Amino acid sequence: VSESAAKLPSKILELMDGFRASKALFVASKLKIFDHLKDKGPLKAVDIADEVGTSVCGTERLLDACAGLGLLEKTTQGYSNTDSTNTYLTSDGEYSLHGYVIHSNDHLWPLFTNLESAVKEGTRQNHRAFGKKAEDLFKDYYHSQEVKQRFMAAMHSIAHLTARDVATAFDLSRFRSACDLGGCTGALAHELVQIYPNLKVTVFDLPEVIANTSYFQPSGQHTAQVTFVSGDFFKDNLPEADLYILSRVLHDWPDEKIHVLLSKVSAVCKPGCGILLAEMVLDDEKKNRSTALLQSLNMLVQTEGKERSGSEYQALLEQHGFTNVKIRMRGNLLDAILCVKT
Ligand code: SAM
Repeated sequence: VSESAAKLPSKILELMDGFRASKALFVASKLKIFDHLKDKGPLKAVDIADEVGTSVCGTERLLDACAGLGLLEKTTQGYSNTDSTNTYLTSDGEYSLHGYVIHSNDHLWPLFTNLESAVKEGTRQNHRAFGKKAEDLFKDYYHSQEVKQRFMAAMHSIAHLTARDVATAFDLSRFRSACDLGGCTGALAHELVQIYPNLKVTVFDLPEVIANTSYFQPSGQHTAQVTFVSGDFFKDNLPEADLYILSRVLHDWPDEKIHVLLSKVSAVCKPGCGILLAEMVLDDEKKNRSTALLQSLNMLVQTEGKERSGSEYQALLEQHGFTNVKIRMRGNLLDAILCVKT
């Protein structure tokens, strides 16, 4: 082996191929291969192809790729799910990410195909990816029941997975009522009432979303403490609460719109009331944590917003009278910021 061959740029090669691995995961998920393998012994490629309705030669290569990526186990008897695949990739797994994977394939992939235009123009690319661009970016999601359901399922899957971390980042037991602005399916709200049984949470979101929340409701304790209210947080009166929650909401918007929203929250907030933000928080120099930096590109291709650093969030909050800003880096998909109205 020559010296140059021994020093292959493995990081670059891995990045160059990254999209192939993503697409293999997306296609296996779209074909519901992980669902077919759930609770079954090892299955041969020919049987999976038969059940899914795909070619044997294509299915075998996809299954082998998934096994190579660690998503499946392969033995002489055939292919089976790993524990992690059962939990996260089957559509009814406890912490299923299936919704987000499908959203990534159907929505984010076409948008990222236009990343070059997004960078050149500095704007979202819905018109190039989908042939239209509504004034309000959420109208692009909610124009059809199918796209709306897919978007809500995607939001729900990440919110459910991260809810405990967000809900326990700070001790919120002093708050009696919370309003989750842009709270979507109520996944975080339901986790909050499990952890804080004395808390009542109002989930506030656009009417199209609120009309579609029943599909996502859990059964179990304290569910009556979560209520849903529809409205537009830029225009309508906000429900009264001790704590306002904005989870993955501020990153959708430019500073000007955040000022409109925070000034409305500030106007209804009494001294001692708080705001809890859940976002991927960037380091001040914006040079670490590639997941969060890539998430900011994800915001570029589809929204008017971006990911921000802890000091940027602090500056936005302080302009509206929210101080004592505390940041808990969870190092996961979402970090948490708590501040208090003085
Ligand atoms: N908070 C949820 C989470 O973390 O999973 C959902 C985040 S999603 C990126 C943004 C949410 O804000 C969507 O549910 C969307 O419908 C809602 N939203 C957008 N514009 C809104 C508006 N003007 N008024 C109320 N909700 C809005």
